[in-house]
Amino acid sequence: MKMNDKGRLFVISGPSGAGKSTVVFKAIEGRDDMCFSTSVTTRKPRPNEVDGREYFFVDLDRFREMVENDELLEHAEYVANSYGTPRKYVEDKLESGLNVLLDIEVQGARQIKAKKPDAVFVFIIPPSMEELRRRLVARGTDSERAIEARLIRARQEYAEADFYDYIIVNDDAERAAKELSAIITAERCKAENRINFLKEA
Ligand code: ADP
Ligand code: 5GP
Repeated sequence: MKMNDKGRLFVISGPSGAGKSTVVFKAIEGRDDMCFSTSVTTRKPRPNEVDGREYFFVDLDRFREMVENDELLEHAEYVANSYGTPRKYVEDKLESGLNVLLDIEVQGARQIKAKKPDAVFVFIIPPSMEELRRRLVARGTDSERAIEARLIRARQEYAEADFYDYIIVNDDAERAAKELSAIITAERCKAENRINFLKEA
């Protein structure tokens, strides 16, 4: 049974290393109503990353071309690299009734808020800044300098994150994933999304 006509957009943000990817993939695993929007970035792939899975890796010329052609729903710079959300994938999936999840930083989330006011905004944080540093070091994918830059950016993002609807503290990843899944389910059940069932009865 199709429960909603159009999909909803779920925007997940939070400092790099908070565990967004970990929590998002656990939360959407096994859900047939959710899909993940793969972003484009000019950042170099990390050793375990696959082009087209974590990101579409592009050079700066291609990225600028996508901006000029209006192929990106939003885009932003983050610690000296550019990131953006391909527009067509997101709009096609929403149109077909699927929910789409974006993992993007705060400036991009603000652009989405202006364009899609009914999107749902979720901010994922680690239990503390010390734990954030530990996770970034343990992930082993960033230099000491890049880790410092990401920690500075984390504090800036906290100060700008006053428009999010939900905050998840990622202490235990399983529990955080359950919370995210519960948010998705609750948002889908909102009366405003299902009012047609009353009208059609
Ligand atoms: P992000 O996508 O926010 O940058 P990742 O999902 O890459 O973060 O997680 C950063 C690091 O922290 C990874 O090594 C991941 O395995 C680890 N991690 C994620 N969630 C937790 C958690 N709840 N407890 C401990 N480590 C975690
Ligand atoms: P990372 O380099 O750690 O993969 O990502 C750095 C930051 O860029 C994270 O906060 C992540 O959410 C954000 N990001 C990833 N894709 C996009 C995107 O398409 N747009 C924006 N604005 N931010 C993104």
